[in-house]
Amino acid sequence: MSATSTLSPCPLFINGEWVHPRLDSTPVFNPSTGEVIAECPAGGAPEVNAAVAAAHDAFPAWRETPPVERARVFFRYRQLVEQHFDQLCRTVSREHGKTHAEARGSVFRGLENIEYACGVPSLLFGDTLENLARNVDCETILQPLGVCAGITPFNFPAMVPLWMYPLAIACGNTFVLKPSEKVPLSAVLLVELLEKAGLPKGVINLVHGGREAVDTLLTHPMVRAVSFVGSTPIAKHIYETGTRHGKRVQANGGAKNYIVIMPDADVPKTVEALAAAAFGCAGERCMAGSTALAVGKAAERLLPSLVEAARAIKVGPTDREAQPDMGPVITAQHRDRVMSLVASGEKEGAKVVADGRGVKVPDAPRGFYLGATVVDGVQASMTLAREEVFGPVLNVMRMDDLGQAITQANASAFGNGAAIFTNSGAAAREFKHRVKAGMVGINVGVPATMAMFPFTGWDASFFGDLHIQGREAVQFYTQQKVVTSRWFGGEVGDVWKK
Ligand code: NAD
Repeated sequence: MSATSTLSPCPLFINGEWVHPRLDSTPVFNPSTGEVIAECPAGGAPEVNAAVAAAHDAFPAWRETPPVERARVFFRYRQLVEQHFDQLCRTVSREHGKTHAEARGSVFRGLENIEYACGVPSLLFGDTLENLARNVDCETILQPLGVCAGITPFNFPAMVPLWMYPLAIACGNTFVLKPSEKVPLSAVLLVELLEKAGLPKGVINLVHGGREAVDTLLTHPMVRAVSFVGSTPIAKHIYETGTRHGKRVQANGGAKNYIVIMPDADVPKTVEALAAAAFGCAGERCMAGSTALAVGKAAERLLPSLVEAARAIKVGPTDREAQPDMGPVITAQHRDRVMSLVASGEKEGAKVVADGRGVKVPDAPRGFYLGATVVDGVQASMTLAREEVFGPVLNVMRMDDLGQAITQANASAFGNGAAIFTNSGAAAREFKHRVKAGMVGINVGVPATMAMFPFTGWDASFFGDLHIQGREAVQFYTQQKVVTSRWFGGEVGDVWKK
C-alpha cells in the first residue's frame, strides 16, 4: 500500500459539487501520532472566485425562500449532526488532538448554534409602530446581505465554523467557508451533512487554503460580510482589509485571560476549575485561563494542590479507545514555541513548579506532546506574561490585593475573558464592574458564551462592532429596512362602503 493511500480526502465544495483540483497542498497531521493524515489543497483566487460566483448566483432564490423553510433545513441538519455526532467528534480528535470528552463538548456547543438558527423565523421579527403620524405606519424589516464568508482557526475545527454559517444561511445569506488548513476534515464532514439536509446548491461552499484564498475573499466585490476567528495580527489584517473593501467584518482575535483567586476561595473547587481552565484542550482555547492572579495568601493555600493536580494530568494520544486527560498540541512547531516561551520566563526569573516539557508518551513517541506546566513568580514585564501562549501553561502572578489584580488584568492588550474565584459577593461585584473583559466568570473558569449570547471579546480580542453569536449575529448577517407607509383613498371607510 502506498503511503498516500490512507490519506483522508480533502475536497472543495463549489456550487453543489465536490471537487478535487490538482493544487499545491499542506499536510494535515494527526497530532497524537505526528502522522500526515491528509493533504489540504492550497486553494487560491480561481477556486475562491468560483465559490463566490456560485454563492452569488444562489442568493436570489435562497433569499426568497421563506424563513420557516430555511429553518426546516436546519432542523434536518441538526438531526444529521446528532446522528453523525461520534464520527464528527472522532474527526475533531484525530485532526486536532482534543480528547473525546473535549471534542464532544465542543461539538455540542456547535450543535447549539444550529438549534439557535432553527429559531430564525422569530429572530427575524421586525418592529412596528402604528400611527407614527396620523395614518402613517412604520415598520422595520430584516433582510439578508448576500454572500458572506467565514474564515476559521485550528483550535475548534467544528464549533467555530458552526458559530457562523448556520445563522448566516438561516438569515437568507449564502456562504463561503474557509476553514483552517491545519484542520480541514471536520469542515468537509459538516458541509457533507448540510448538503444531505437538502440545502440548495451554491448556498454553502467550501474552499481551502491560506493567505491567497483569504485575501481573495477579503477583496472580492461580491462578498458582503466576513466573519473571522483566529489570532490577533490576522484578525486585525482581516478587519482592516475587509472594511477597506466595503465589507462588514467581525474578527475575533487572540487572548490572555486572567483568573483572580481571592484568599477566601474554596481550595478544591478552585483548583479543579483552574486546572480545567488552563489545561483543558491543552490550553489551546481563546478562553483558556492562562494566568492566575493569586491575591494575598491565595497562592500559599492553592499552589501545593495545583501543582499536584498539574503533575497528575495524564498526557497521551486521543485517537484511540483509552483516553488521556490531555491530548497533544497542534504541531511540533507550536509545541516548540510554547516551550521557548516557558524557557524565556524561567530565564527572566520565574520558577517552573510543574514542568511539562520533555513529557514522554511511549506509545506515541512522534506526537506533539507537552505536559501541564505551572510557572510561579511571573512578572508583568516578562514575555511569558504578555504574549498569548496557547498551550498547557498556567502562569501564577502574586498580587497584594484585589485592586492590584484588577489593574494587572486591565493592563492586558486583550479583553476576551476574565474570572474571579471568591466567596465574597462584594469582591465579585467589584471585579465584574471594573474588569476590562467582554466575558466574565464568577467562580466559573471558562465563561465562554453559549449560542444565544454574543461572544463578546473586547480590545485586541475583537475587531468590529457586532459580535459572533446571539442577537448581535442576527444583526450582523442582516440589514434593516425601515418602511414608512401611508395610504390615500379619501376618508377612511370609503372602500368599505362600496
Ligand atoms: P491564525 O490566525 O493563524 O489562522 C486563522 C485563519 O486565518 C486560518 O483559516 C488561516 O488559514 C488564516 N490565516 C493565517 N494566516 C493568514 C494570513 N497571513 N493572511 C490571511 N489569512 C491567514 O489562527 P490559528 O492559529 O488557526 O488559531 C489560534 C488563534 O485563534 C489563537 O490566537 C486563539 O486565541 C484564536 N481564537 C480566538 C477565538 C475568539 O473567539 N476570540 C476563538 C478561537 C481561537
